[in-house]
Amino acid sequence: MTERNKLRLAIVGAGPAGIYAADILLKAERNFDVSIDLFDRLPAPYGLVRYGVAPDHPRIKGIINALREVLDRGDIRIFGNVEFGSDLTVDDLKRHYHAVIFATGAVRDAELGIPGIELGGSYGAGDFVSWYDGHPDYPREWPLDAKQVAVIGNGNVALDVSRILAKHAEDLLPTEIPDNVYEGLQDSAVTDVHVFGRRGPTSVKFTPLELRELGELRDVDMIVYDEDFDYDEQAKAAVAGNKQVFVIDKVLNQWRRRETGQASRRLHLHFFAKPIEIVGDDVGQVSAIRYERTEPDGEGGVVGTGEIRELPVQAVYRAVGYFGSPLPGIPFDKRYGIIPNHEGQVQLRDKETGETRQAYGVYATGWIKRGPVGLIGHTKSDAMETVAHLINDLGNWWTPESPSEESIVELLESRGILWTDLEGWHRLDEHEIAAGQPFGRARIKVVPRDDMVHISRDELPDEVRGADAGAQADSERAGE
Ligand SMILES: Cc1cc2nc3c(=O)[nH]c(=O)nc-3n(C[C@H](O)[C@H](O)[C@H](O)COP(=O)(O)OP(=O)(O)OC[C@H]3O[C@@H](n4cnc5c(N)ncnc54)[C@H](O)[C@@H]3O)c2cc1C
Repeated sequence: MTERNKLRLAIVGAGPAGIYAADILLKAERNFDVSIDLFDRLPAPYGLVRYGVAPDHPRIKGIINALREVLDRGDIRIFGNVEFGSDLTVDDLKRHYHAVIFATGAVRDAELGIPGIELGGSYGAGDFVSWYDGHPDYPREWPLDAKQVAVIGNGNVALDVSRILAKHAEDLLPTEIPDNVYEGLQDSAVTDVHVFGRRGPTSVKFTPLELRELGELRDVDMIVYDEDFDYDEQAKAAVAGNKQVFVIDKVLNQWRRRETGQASRRLHLHFFAKPIEIVGDDVGQVSAIRYERTEPDGEGGVVGTGEIRELPVQAVYRAVGYFGSPLPGIPFDKRYGIIPNHEGQVQLRDKETGETRQAYGVYATGWIKRGPVGLIGHTKSDAMETVAHLINDLGNWWTPESPSEESIVELLESRGILWTDLEGWHRLDEHEIAAGQPFGRARIKVVPRDDMVHISRDELPDEVRGADAGAQADSERAGE
């Protein structure tokens, strides 16, 4: 078979975008064969579905089953625990593949430029999410000594973070949370979570389902403030004309009428409240949040009223969006945190002339292609667009020196990289499910990277087996 009738493709990132891209390409009409290697820096696939979607959203976590079906078909090779940039470079890829699709997503918290953001006790929501979802590269302990907490943002991630903070640890136990997360949440001192949005209730970014869920939390009062419901004409029109806004307004108004005062925890929603400063104490820890009351500007936005308020809090979480990270040797748009591309075809910019041209052989899909917005389902349409270009660009792919399937395995072996494969993922999956099963827990996630790798590769050293047994005993106690 000549080079042009077989595409050896590398996909970097085994989140939904990467897996959908592989699936779509394999099913697409084309006049060449395809052989795909899927790389991920983590030992387990599924990206933010495993490490972003909240553990108490089992329906969404269930998307993993659909992604798993794609991988289980057996026509995509997986190399987990392989990081592009350190374990593999773009020159390696050029030597072994005809093209690459980057599907590396976005994991960093976007910045928020207000004074005090650097204080102790001020966190990015994404870091907290990584902690409670058991991401191997984050510390095992999370400080939860704050009684009053502020969450800045009005999207679904802000609600996820607020819900996990407000929820009693026992109510999370049946999910897949790791033991260290259960123990951390059990000791939480939180009594009040305050969510801040600078716009009004009819301009929020979260969805009705996620909002409604807050009202069902055991022993948590939902607190909304009457002053936020004095709607202008635009807001009234939004309620009348948009079903989603209508439902959100309805849910919030039901909470206005609810009796409160019995619960041990409260979740407050502050609208028309724009955080302007995080106030610190004399040892550099968060002690309050200062915010400006806003009002509608008549054009769908808000303006500051000049009225400044302050609320004592000991921790602040900013949930103001995610941001992509640059990849070595690959163009990056610092402003938007994406790989610059035209419908998935990566673009190079000439520094002198400012002109852009296609970087042949290099493609992008998912959050690193279009920025960190949109649901898992959107990564499918993204992948369709990118894959269509990849197929049409057939004459412009790279010309690899060594495209055989064995050559990449030899390279990884020569570098001593302990990669994990599909069989290894099944092993880890079964291990986690079996650990949770006796206690009625969906699974108990394995957090340390080395343990994930050893379990996947069936190379669990004795001391880890011992620790693992210890963890099981802890679970037993936790499940009592
Ligand atoms: C907190 C949170 C909650 C969410 N909840 C929902 C929800 O309930 N419902 C919903 O539909 N959507 C939800 N989303 C959105 C959803 O997660 C995204 O739409 C989707 O995961 C984006 O897919 P992706 O494949 O582009 O990126 P990701 O899912 O981030 O996958 C990227 C993959 O690339 C890998 N990678 C990164 N860099 C490298 C490298 N250098 N080398 C090798 N591999 C690398 C990563 O390890 C990761 O596995 C949520 C997002 C967040 C942040």
